[in-house]
Amino acid sequence: MSDRFDLIVIGAGPGGYVAAIRAAQLGKKTALVESEPRLGGTCLRVGCIPSKALLESSELFEKAVHSFADRGIRIDGSLQVDLPQMMKHKESVIETLDGGISGLLRKNKVQVFTGRGSLRPNGVVSVNSGETSQQIQGDRILIATGSVPSSLPGIELDGDRVGTSTEALSWPEVPEHLVVIGGGVIGLELGTVWKRLGAKVTILEYLPRILPGIDEQVAAEARKIFSAQGLEFRTGTKVTSVVGNRNDATVTIEGADSIVCDRVLVAVGRRPCIDSLGLDAVGVETDQRGFVRVSASYQTTVRGIYAIGDVIGGAMLAHKAEEEGIACVERMFTGFGHINYEVIPAVVYTEPEIAAAGETEDSLKAAGRKYRAGKFAFAANGRARAGGHTDGFVKILADAETDRILGVHIIGTHAGELIHEVAVAMNFGASSEDLARCCHAHPTLSEAVKEAAMAVDKRAIHS
Ligand code: FAD
Ligand code: NAD
Repeated sequence: MSDRFDLIVIGAGPGGYVAAIRAAQLGKKTALVESEPRLGGTCLRVGCIPSKALLESSELFEKAVHSFADRGIRIDGSLQVDLPQMMKHKESVIETLDGGISGLLRKNKVQVFTGRGSLRPNGVVSVNSGETSQQIQGDRILIATGSVPSSLPGIELDGDRVGTSTEALSWPEVPEHLVVIGGGVIGLELGTVWKRLGAKVTILEYLPRILPGIDEQVAAEARKIFSAQGLEFRTGTKVTSVVGNRNDATVTIEGADSIVCDRVLVAVGRRPCIDSLGLDAVGVETDQRGFVRVSASYQTTVRGIYAIGDVIGGAMLAHKAEEEGIACVERMFTGFGHINYEVIPAVVYTEPEIAAAGETEDSLKAAGRKYRAGKFAFAANGRARAGGHTDGFVKILADAETDRILGVHIIGTHAGELIHEVAVAMNFGASSEDLARCCHAHPTLSEAVKEAAMAVDKRAIHS
């Protein structure tokens, strides 16, 4: 046994590395075990960050091709996508941030072990790097092993013609025809990237609508806007098999013609990463879908072993994992740590962006809760007009009696930034009138948020 720690964290994603830093800040001797050579987890290596780098780059290209001329910017000669350079930029962003995390861990004296961690009895974690194996011991252990892409029966993921988001973030050429299975967040974000770079993109969704979980009105607006941008949606579509060949792939659909395309992205959700973690060996229980069961203080069914982030289910979001990492460690070592699960913002980074927090109209109706809705369109906002971003709206839902804000739903440019004003207000129990009476600078997109708050009381000025 090489060393004994107050806490061993397994998994260096946003949940795990943040938890490790917080434990170190609280003066605890902390180890962080990660199987991959790079830190940052799914989020940094093959998730949030690379997808946003490609979304940003592809949006620049899209604007240069389609918007510059209208604004009086002429480019003589043709515009080309230099995909290897775009990918190089994406990699450099990952590398820089990976270095940043390493630096933070060093600064906080968190000891990093590279290798696959598995649980052994009596607080022991075995770290296996393939060549070497070592055992470390902790008073407490935190499982933060995240998630991996799911697939479907009948689909052969070959990592080439038929892949998941991991491969779709690094394809060497722009597909001519990309079929995406799943009209959720990944389908829309990565479908958008490859569409902007020149692919024909067909999104096949099993449900009758896209973006399940997002406010229905927002999802319907999104479908309209993204269809106009060129994404093809086929909802209510059941894929029965996908087979990749050398140069193409065949997607078989129930009750419709098969599609032959050159690449398939399978984006039908993610499942917890618990493979070879040794949960059974120590008695940590999972639910039917494999998510680790935890108590309100994130303790698993085994005393001293905790879990947070994607591996425990709920919203599979980096910031939710981070908040849980901090709350879990604070509860362990200080007795208090808190998350307001009612206000976890979710953002889809398309253009326009989609952002939501709190209740939807559907969830309020289902709960029989009376509410008032205030809606304001970006088309009536001066700053949105000036920038040519007139698509979308802000919708605020407030309790019919108390006026407390219960939910916010935005589809519009920079929605992912705008949402936080309302989210902060919600965390402080604000009413729509509180928001409506705050002076907002002009001309800003935030004025649309203020107007939506005023619209709850039917007194928006500009609509
Ligand atoms: P992860 O980030 O999955 O990290 C778990 C880590 O544990 C990994 O590094 C893994 O290698 C390691 N590990 C697993 N098993 C072991 C073991 N036995 N031993 C040692 N190490 C192990 N979320 C957002 O909030 N915003 C976004 O914009 C966003 N975009 C996304 C885009 C894509 C394409 C994808 C796939 C996901 C995206 N997500 C986004 C989701 C986000 O990445 C996850 O919710 C988040 O990474 C979960 O954090 P985590 O710490 O729980 O787990
Ligand atoms: P998702 O749950 O967002 O979407 C999956 C979609 O696939 C759903 O619309 C579902 O109805 C559909 N689907 C399921 N089975 C199907 C089938 N047999 N045929 C056709 N469609 C089917 O999952 P995702 O897009 O894979 O993303 C995984 C996770 O990663 C999500 O939980 C998400 O929170 C996270 N993520 C977040 C962001 C972000 O925050 N911007 C970006 C990407 C991913």
